[in-house]
Amino acid sequence: MVGYKDRRALEVGHGPCELSFTLVAGLLRRKDDPALESAVTENPRIVVIGGVAAGMSAASQARRRNPKARVTVFERGPYISYGACGMPYNIEDPDRDMDDLVVLSPERAVKERGIDLHLRHEAVDLDADEGWVLVRDLEAGTERRESFDALVLATGAMAIRLPLPGMDLPGVFVLRELTDGRALKRVLASGPRKAVIIGAGYIGMEMAHVLTSRGLEVTVLEKLPQVLPGWSADTVAVVGETLAEHGVAVHTGVTVTAAEAGPGGHVHAVATDAGRFEADVVLMAAGIRPNVSLAAAAGLRIGDTGAIWVNQHQETSHDGIWAAGDCAEAYHRILRKNAWIPLGTTANKQGRVAGANAAGLRERFGGIVGTAGFVVFDLEVARTGISAEQAAGEGFEPTTVTIRQRSRAHGYPGGTPIQVTLVADAPSGLLLGGEIVGREGAALRANVLATALAAHMSVTDVQSLDLAYAPPFAPVWDPILVAANQLAKRVRRQETRP
Ligand code: FAD
Ligand code: NAD
Repeated sequence: MVGYKDRRALEVGHGPCELSFTLVAGLLRRKDDPALESAVTENPRIVVIGGVAAGMSAASQARRRNPKARVTVFERGPYISYGACGMPYNIEDPDRDMDDLVVLSPERAVKERGIDLHLRHEAVDLDADEGWVLVRDLEAGTERRESFDALVLATGAMAIRLPLPGMDLPGVFVLRELTDGRALKRVLASGPRKAVIIGAGYIGMEMAHVLTSRGLEVTVLEKLPQVLPGWSADTVAVVGETLAEHGVAVHTGVTVTAAEAGPGGHVHAVATDAGRFEADVVLMAAGIRPNVSLAAAAGLRIGDTGAIWVNQHQETSHDGIWAAGDCAEAYHRILRKNAWIPLGTTANKQGRVAGANAAGLRERFGGIVGTAGFVVFDLEVARTGISAEQAAGEGFEPTTVTIRQRSRAHGYPGGTPIQVTLVADAPSGLLLGGEIVGREGAALRANVLATALAAHMSVTDVQSLDLAYAPPFAPVWDPILVAANQLAKRVRRQETRP
């Protein structure tokens, strides 16, 4: 019988997007091969570190694909498998229980999926060559070595806590884990009046809306010159108007210097180079960092992005170790190289691939195009692909267009404007990216662009897409088609696929 590690040793090739070919994996597809049949049904010991989106996807998939595998998950926190993405909307509703966000309870993970689950257990050391992790039981204070045949790192990311005076005061929060959401929601129940949000990225925008709707006076402080750094000025202008309409005070280009305590020791203000802003609640939404310390200390390759390097099979640079989710890079189909765009949708998909492969299969993650969206007040905001600025930095010759069109047919009541920004490479006509913002039908239209990007369509291809039309949900010329028509005038090569 081919041993588990022996099978890994047969691997050839390890490039980021190669279709590296496993001799055994090739054989795996030949279901008639008895040696292979026995190899896949052996019982490997698979250890997964981290029990949220990527980790539980990997563990569940490993068990499903190889029911004889012993799959052990170590999670240092008290929860597994929750939808962090739902926290802002949960916080918005004082009557909703945070536990609604838990997708799979620890009991079900053990009973229904047969996963050997250990909560409040932290992996503190990893010997990649010997194949063991040192695990600390955070309750008992004890440590033990756990050996593995296959390891999946799904350690995620952590919120950046600004190393400034006062950022550890009561009333200062981050929003990353379920416990963070719970703590913030508890404080909101006590009726604070003023909130300062540090950072105008995804969490900053979503929480500006949520805290305003919970009745707080909200100020957003962003260190860069615009909200949503990296987005087009046209989208940012619409978002800015909406924030202003809803009374959110936005200050960009601001350097935060400290959080200050009031007489009771609770946070009372945020000090900046642009003045002092009173706050009963401060939310640090200044970005995240991938949790790579375990991988880095074990000598695994860390990519240029700062996250764990993986190929499209989710393999790290070390045989027998896979990585998935926010701790790992992902292959970007437009950039044709790895990128770090940490999102739940990617974590779930990568986790499945890592879990299946750790269980002895040979699956491949197709890659990302950088699609993301959010809601701020009544505005849907979404992007996909790369921006004009990013495109220029990657050697493209970007050309861009922004159009406004109504969301429903002319004469049909209730339509609202949708703004579409498209980016293409002028010489080749290749679509490179897009942003859509509007009050209805905006975010999901970005999925059309995401699909076009994944298929490497040209602007001319997009122009001729057969998109659905009926007056209640679209004008006869969908906003995407109008934008593509305008952009086509600016690209030099105008060809459609057969
Ligand atoms: P994590 O969720 O970070 O989980 C990693 C787990 O590993 C953690 O529980 C951690 O305790 C554990 N861990 C780390 N190190 C160790 C160790 N050494 N030992 C044991 N355990 C360890 N994404 C979207 O696509 N759409 C959205 O709308 C969206 N909204 C979001 C809103 C908010 C407020 C937040 C915070 C995130 C949002 N995201 C969204 C991002 C999404 O939640 C993450 O991409 C996703 O949670 C990543 O999953 P993960 O399993 O890779 O990492
Ligand atoms: P982010 O990277 O989206 O935004 C961080 C913002 O903080 C940036 O605008 C940055 O310039 C600013 N900033 C950094 N340091 C600062 C400082 N000292 N003072 C003022 N501003 C500062 O990160 P986030 O909003 O914290 O969200 C974390 C991650 O969660 C995101 O990367 C995203 O992956 C995920 N997320 C996604 C969604 C979604 O897809 N709808 C929603 C929420 C969160």
